[in-house]
Amino acid sequence: MELMLEVKSLSFSYGNGKVLENVSFSLKKGEIICILGPNGSGKSTLIKCIAGILKPDSGSIHILGKDTASLGAGDIARHIGYVPQQNEVVFPFSVLDFVVMGRAPHLSMFASPGADDIKLAKESLAMVGISDLAERPVANLSGGQNQMVLIARALVQKPALLLLDEPTSHLDFGNQILVLETVQRLASLGMSIVMNTHMPDHAFLVGDRAAALAGGRLVAVGKVETVVTSKMMSSVYGVNVAVREIEDMKRKVCLPLRR
Ligand code: ADP
Ligand code: MG
Repeated sequence: MELMLEVKSLSFSYGNGKVLENVSFSLKKGEIICILGPNGSGKSTLIKCIAGILKPDSGSIHILGKDTASLGAGDIARHIGYVPQQNEVVFPFSVLDFVVMGRAPHLSMFASPGADDIKLAKESLAMVGISDLAERPVANLSGGQNQMVLIARALVQKPALLLLDEPTSHLDFGNQILVLETVQRLASLGMSIVMNTHMPDHAFLVGDRAAALAGGRLVAVGKVETVVTSKMMSSVYGVNVAVREIEDMKRKVCLPLRR
């Protein structure tokens, strides 16, 4: 089966010292990979390289077999949806108008959105279950609603690959689960998802696979069970981390321990 995403020997620096070094992993259609790692380990930089926002120093990124270095920004935007980290929306638009703006790569310059664009935006809102927010001003939503709108906006181009940079980091329990369930549902529709998180528990909740970044190197990649271990998490986060099975829930949890 053709791979949705193939990252090969990727290296990147902002100028002084490597931020990503020799990062390689791949992702199939409908798979979710959680990229774990402490603050500053390079998670956002990796996602920005995949999104085509940063240009790697070396290595390659293939989407559906095509080298993204040979694709224009518009082509990349048609294949990839990207939700940046910590993105509070303060524009004076309605939710629907804001989501329509996600169609920009498909609109020729100066063209107004047409009925098709509005239809697609409405479909995106429905896909993440927030059709009722369509007419609300985007500036005064709750944190959870804001994140769902950003995901809807990234979906309006019907991307094959969705990149989410810490989509749950400012959310309460209920909204964390809402986002994770949405991510799972999108994957079950065939979308491939790369999700940065510093919550290893979230990998147990939704991840097919996990990867651990430490100091810009991928120190582990594979099934969540094999990556999210006490030994690996303790080493990556620099603090003792217990990983325990909760028997009656048939689920593992991850707990940072005091020194
Ligand atoms: P994470 O998302 O895992 O917290 P980042 O990818 O944001 O990590 O950052 C990785 C490293 O790159 C950090 O050392 C950070 O300080 C550095 N960095 C991030 N953005 C820039 C930038 N625009 N210019 C220079 N250094 C940066
Ligand atoms: Mg980050």
